[in-house]
Amino acid sequence: MAFYCHRCGTSLPPSARFCSNCGAVVTAMPSTARPLQRPRVGRKIAGVCIGLSQAYGWDVNLVRVLTVVGTLFSGGLVAVAYLAAWVGIPEEPLETQTAYPPRI
Ligand SMILES: [Zn+2]
Repeated sequence: MAFYCHRCGTSLPPSARFCSNCGAVVTAMPSTARPLQRPRVGRKIAGVCIGLSQAYGWDVNLVRVLTVVGTLFSGGLVAVAYLAAWVGIPEEPLETQTAYPPRI
């Protein structure tokens, strides 16, 4: 994935935080980043885990395992947090299903 400085256009490695040519701070989001929402595709229960993993770049299987393990060992606290996220995180709108990631 090509990655460019927004100021001078220099090609940069994906891990760059500053432009090597002009020194500008590089704040571009990863190409996989999506807004925090519950996708309609790929969900297991309510889409909370896959929504969090897509928004923050985490591995969805790791999030799911941690959710289940956390539920078992927290006395249900994680389950309550899951339900709160189910209510609080908006569902992916129908019209943006193909908007992320952008087709190139
Ligand atoms: Zn630059």
